[in-house]
This record gives sequence, structure tokens and C-alpha cells, in this order.
Amino acid sequence: LRNEIYGVGFDNVDINEATDIALALMDREHASYVVTPNAEILWMCHKEEKLRKVVNDADMVLPDGIGVVYGAKILKRPLKSKVAGCDFAEKLMDKMQNTGKSVFLFGAKPGVADKAAENLKEKYPGLIISGTNDGYFKDDKPIIEKINSAKPDLLLVCLGVPKQEFWMSENKDKLNAKVMAGLGGSLDVFAGVVERAPAVWQKLGLEWLYRLIKEPKRIKRMSSLPLFLFAVIWQRITGK
Ligand code: UDP
Repeated sequence: LRNEIYGVGFDNVDINEATDIALALMDREHASYVVTPNAEILWMCHKEEKLRKVVNDADMVLPDGIGVVYGAKILKRPLKSKVAGCDFAEKLMDKMQNTGKSVFLFGAKPGVADKAAENLKEKYPGLIISGTNDGYFKDDKPIIEKINSAKPDLLLVCLGVPKQEFWMSENKDKLNAKVMAGLGGSLDVFAGVVERAPAVWQKLGLEWLYRLIKEPKRIKRMSSLPLFLFAVIWQRITGK
């Protein structure tokens, strides 16, 4: 049962539960996919029905952002906690160490996934990284073949929203991978190309502000955050 927030159903789980569910999904025959919408993405889903469907069809939907958690609170459908995509992936890879399970890193600019693999290997020595591929391609057939011969238990799909969500949903049945997770800029973070906000900012729920200061050009995209919150407050007041 999911908590519906502005048209999207979220799994009410903390990071520990989310990673345990992902591990369990790895035992299934077919591929599953996980999405991690933030308020910006919820707003996109509100405007684009196709995206909303793909997001709701995911096997797990995690609230990546304080905006979603606030929205849930306002609507009186509280979610246990924010589960940032990056943190989810790290915790999952940590748990996958020494289990024989492998991860494939797909996305970001050429070289970034390789650098991320290098850093992750150092941080999680017991992790098997079965391959990498950048996220700039015309034809994805060779990439699908590459992934299928690697047979990863976890496939990080970092192509940005909504490309990664559509890609996972479209290719789910062609892929010999167990769990896919659409994680936006996470490979940039793992590679050290993009820095995450310091822990204090994260704790205060101000990661978005830090990101805005670092990348002011995101202001246009981020303007959907207040729009989303107003919409949620309106929904609460009018009951619609
Ligand atoms: N990206 C990609 N292929 C594309 C477009 C984007 O691999 O065709 C990558 C981009 O290099 C970056 C990530 O997707 O690593 C998107 O990062 P962003 O922080 O913008 O993620 P979002 O906020 O969209 O989830």
C-alpha cells in the first residue's frame, strides 16, 4: 500500500527497509525498477501523464527530497523519511558487498561512470562492479547487449529525469538485470564531479538550497518546488 502524494504513490519506508526490499527484488526472475522522485519530478508527473504512469508502475517509489516529505505531512499521509537516491544506492551497494552480487553503472558523461567505479571500489572493496557505460548514445542496443552479458543484480540508470524513467520502463523486459534504479546525477556524485551538500545542510533539509547556490541555473527547474507546495496546501484546504 502506497501513500499517494499529488498523484504519485510513495512507499512509506526508511532507507534500511528500502534497501532490504531492493535486495529481495533481486531474487525475482524478471527485472524491477526503482524511482526516486523529488518535488520537481512530482510536478513534472502532474503535467505529464505518461511520466506519472511510468513512475507509478515502478516496483518501489522513494521520496528523494524534503519537499515530498513536507507535502506528505501537509496531506496528512506522512512518510517515515526522505530517502535520497544517492544514499539508497550507497547503502544498497554496502549491503551487496561480499554476497557475490554485482552492479553496473550506466549514465553520465564519458569517463564519469569509470571514475565512479574506481571510487566505489575503494569505498566498498567487497563490491563487484560488472561494467560501466556513459549516458550519451544514439542507439542503445549495444548498451543493452553489454548490460545483458554482464547480468548485473543492480543497474544504476543515471540519465536524468525523465529520460531514465522512460528508459527503464521501455527496456525492462529486454534486460538481464535484476533491479534498476533511476538515480539522476548520482554517478557525478560518486565520481566526485559534483559535490553533495555537507551533512549539516542535509540534516536541516537544505540540500536543495546548497545545490541552488552551487548551480544557480537550476532556479528555473526549482521554481516548481514552491508551486508543488502551494498545490498540496490547496489540495488540503479544498479536499480536492
Ligand atoms: N545524462 C546522461 N545522458 C543524457 C542526459 C543526461 O547520461 O542524455 C546525465 C548527466 O550527465 C547527469 C545526469 O544524467 O549525470 C543528470 O543529472 P541531474 O543532476 O541533472 O539529474 P536530475 O536532477 O535530472 O535527476
